[in-house]
Amino acid sequence: MSDETLETDYLVVGAGAAGMAFADALLALSNATLTIVDRRHAPGGHWIDAYPFVRLHQPSAFYGVSSMPLGQDVRDLTGTNAGYYELAGADEVRAYFAHVMRRRFLPSGRVRYFPCSEYLGDGRFVSRYTQASWKVSVRRKVVDTTYLEGTVPATSAPPFEVADGVRCVPAGDVTRIPERPERFVVIGAGKTALDTCVWLLEQDVPAPSIRWIKPREARWLNRRFQQPLALLPESYRGTAIQLEAMAEATSVEDLFARLEAKGFFLRVDPGVAPTMFRGAVISEAELNLLRQIEDVVRLGHVVRIERDEIVLDEGRVPTNDATVHIHCASRGLMRRPVRPIFEARHVTVQPFLWAFACYQFAMLGAIEALVESDEEKNRLCPPIAYWDADRDYLCAFLATLANERARTAYPALANWAKETRLNPFGGIGHHRDAAEVIDARECIKRYAAAAAGNLAHLITKNAART
Ligand SMILES: Cc1cc2nc3c(=O)[nH]c(=O)nc-3n(C[C@H](O)[C@H](O)[C@H](O)COP(=O)(O)OP(=O)(O)OC[C@H]3O[C@@H](n4cnc5c(N)ncnc54)[C@H](O)[C@@H]3O)c2cc1C
Repeated sequence: MSDETLETDYLVVGAGAAGMAFADALLALSNATLTIVDRRHAPGGHWIDAYPFVRLHQPSAFYGVSSMPLGQDVRDLTGTNAGYYELAGADEVRAYFAHVMRRRFLPSGRVRYFPCSEYLGDGRFVSRYTQASWKVSVRRKVVDTTYLEGTVPATSAPPFEVADGVRCVPAGDVTRIPERPERFVVIGAGKTALDTCVWLLEQDVPAPSIRWIKPREARWLNRRFQQPLALLPESYRGTAIQLEAMAEATSVEDLFARLEAKGFFLRVDPGVAPTMFRGAVISEAELNLLRQIEDVVRLGHVVRIERDEIVLDEGRVPTNDATVHIHCASRGLMRRPVRPIFEARHVTVQPFLWAFACYQFAMLGAIEALVESDEEKNRLCPPIAYWDADRDYLCAFLATLANERARTAYPALANWAKETRLNPFGGIGHHRDAAEVIDARECIKRYAAAAAGNLAHLITKNAART
């Protein structure tokens, strides 16, 4: 059977948050036609397979696509997010992206969407369920949002062996286990493991029944400083706190010590130095819950789970048939060599700012639409790796300062960044006369240039040492 042919300006591979945010900005700012292809059956990317109790770790107010709000901009009244702006759960995020596709993209008449379709490269994709195949003639560019695609426990086997008869489930399946276990062993140190521990405690599982296997200790961002709308002044103060610390720190360690002292960064165990930093956000209420878990195993990664013991890199701990082991140990987002984001026929979506995902990926769509040459586009946004350790935070923050400066030469882009709902600080003008905003603004003015200079110095000093 021969390929059916299609013509389009842009072929977007992946209908996850990155593909949707990029496509939305391009639709709004150009007359381009788009074809969106994804192997999953619905838009939303990894959210389609997310564990049932996951929520965004940042407020809904600045997640998703620029043209459509997510959530009602209300504050939670109960639970570990009480007082802070709402965080959409997986069902809401899935419904939202379906809505964006059905109500905005498809009715525009400029988008064709092919779910359940595998992209093979070179403009070709095939249906996963029929013999149908397509060859796309792409007038402008292929937008690849899959270069750094991560994995989630629901769709990836655990990175350790599991002997026959061992009860081991991916994070989401803990909501469906048929018999009550005596103990839970949560395996992983990232956001999925943290969410799982919090969820178990919220179900009144006694903390002594939970063992937490943490190969690394993580740093977390304090949700207090990641708030929109009425709470935006506090987030703005967070920027001032960071810049002051960046201007004055004498080493990477000193910078984090200063920011931790101000409550900007959190860690569950104050006695253990964090070696992992993925940029996830938690509340102090979650932190207090997690500190109830005292049975923490720090013997490296799990290698194998036997019926009677768990074998780790640096030791063994006992287990038994009455224990459920919960796999929260997926790799997460990929760290691959950075490559230019904009090329003649190709966009490779990668991070380039210290910012939440949707804002930066929508900005790439805006840059594609509003900036003339690929050379200028790449000058505006040299790619960076997803953050994984302390030093990455410094590099990403420095990249953001450089991007903000460079953006001022492109008024349409600067204006887009100011107006989009995805920019957490877009609404700060509404609070311009609040005393704490005036103080923070003074502080930002005082320290911004020194912070940029000192960050570059600390990065070089740190690289020379390691
Ligand atoms: C549990 C969890 C919670 C998170 N919460 C937040 C948050 O609150 N805020 C935030 O900013 N970030 C968050 N993140 C980070 C996350 O990176 C972004 O939220 C975002 O959803 C990632 O979207 P993406 O499009 O880059 O990747 P994905 O969601 O992985 O989408 C990539 C898509 O490409 C498709 N694809 C891949 N290869 C092919 C192929 N060959 N052919 C066809 N289709 C293909 C896949 O099917 C997939 O749908 C979270 C991540 C996780 C795992």
